[in-house]
Amino acid sequence: MNDSLGFNQPQPVVANSRPKLLIVDDQPVNIRALHQIFAGDHDVFMATNGADAIAFCETSQPDLVLLDVVMPELSGLDVCRALKASPATADIPVIFVTSLNDPEEEGACWDVGGVDFITKPINAKTTRNRVRAHLTLKYQADMLRQLAWIDGLTGIPNKRQIDARSEQEFRRCKREELPLAVAVVDIDYFKAFNDTYGHLAGDDCLRSVAQAIQASMQRPGDFAGRMGGEEFICLFPDTTLQDAMELLQRIDAAIRALHLPHLSGIDGQVTVSIGVVSAVPRSDVVMATFVEQADKALYQAKQQGRARVHAAEVDIAGMV
Ligand code: GH3
Ligand code: MG
Ligand code: MG
Repeated sequence: MNDSLGFNQPQPVVANSRPKLLIVDDQPVNIRALHQIFAGDHDVFMATNGADAIAFCETSQPDLVLLDVVMPELSGLDVCRALKASPATADIPVIFVTSLNDPEEEGACWDVGGVDFITKPINAKTTRNRVRAHLTLKYQADMLRQLAWIDGLTGIPNKRQIDARSEQEFRRCKREELPLAVAVVDIDYFKAFNDTYGHLAGDDCLRSVAQAIQASMQRPGDFAGRMGGEEFICLFPDTTLQDAMELLQRIDAAIRALHLPHLSGIDGQVTVSIGVVSAVPRSDVVMATFVEQADKALYQAKQQGRARVHAAEVDIAGMV
């Protein structure tokens, strides 16, 4: 996810798993010393150069990095700078391990985004406690991100994340003159579902539908979230109405394929109605206009019998 909003996709928080530590040092003897301290209760990984360290962080998302400052080729400062510049790795805390007692270098460690540093020769107790403190902070930060951006019931992005993401995609499509498709998905006769099967079964149904929608997102820019209640939103940047219709027909089919029984539903099972709009955002149009148009199209889909996708009958000129 783009970091221009100052947040990243929340990482799953696993309270009881062993923390994953990456130790980076060009001298194996230094790695060994740190490895001894942490191997008992952490999953310890090692890299002897900066490029390997960055690649490991991108693919394996360690919980914390212990990073040597002075290394040939990429220095520790270069590595930290690269990690902080990439949204995928920016949230991984970096503790520098430095042998130099140099105030300027200390300053540089903070400037590139390090959270702390430890001096060599290392003191085992200090190192263990520093790492523990920063792992706790990381765990709490992950947890807060999850609470702030993820819908508690379904585990997919919540309204707050939808708002942030829509504004971001809206601005990008406007700048690059690309069509943005916005769809509103609403479960049919869901009040009756709750009345028949109970609220807990209703919650299960919401989770299943949310997962089916989420699993249908294919391209990296495609996005789905829960607006609230039994209503979901999908964003498809750089997507024409025709292409969006195809994607949404597939979502519609994926939800039917769940075969969730619904006595007073359409064909005796859970279905959704979907309203969609796609246009290149004009300069005098705001994101809310897209959602309004998609909502109107949803209303039409409901009017015409539910369990269908309906496209808003507007062109760019109509979107004011
Ligand atoms: P329509 O086909 O026109 O969309 O009808 P509907 O019954 O789906 O729509 P309505 O807006 O009348 O009812 C929505 C229902 O969704 C009412 C509410 O109890 C239920 N609902 C909203 N949030 C939740 C939730 O978190 N869990 C459960 N189980 N039900 C919810
Ligand atoms: Mg409904
Ligand atoms: Mg509704």
